[in-house]
Amino acid sequence: MIKTDHISIQCPECGHTEFEQPQDVKDDDFVKCHECGFEIMLADLREVGIEQAREVVIPEAKKEIEKMLKKAFKGRLK
Ligand SMILES: [Zn+2]
Repeated sequence: MIKTDHISIQCPECGHTEFEQPQDVKDDDFVKCHECGFEIMLADLREVGIEQAREVVIPEAKKEIEKMLKKAFKGRLK
């Protein structure tokens, strides 16, 4: 399984998160999805993973910011 920090990269085709990969895999090596057999270059897969991580992280960061803003407003209203 290829991971960026703690978020698994999903196959762009089927959403599976495990890939067959050669040992000592390099950026220009192809990895293959265990589920659907989709092949993607490791460098591209990383980009996909970064995009997916952003989609997960941004809404969570927004929630935190909203919480902080609410707290700040509560303090002011007192
Ligand atoms: Zn797949």
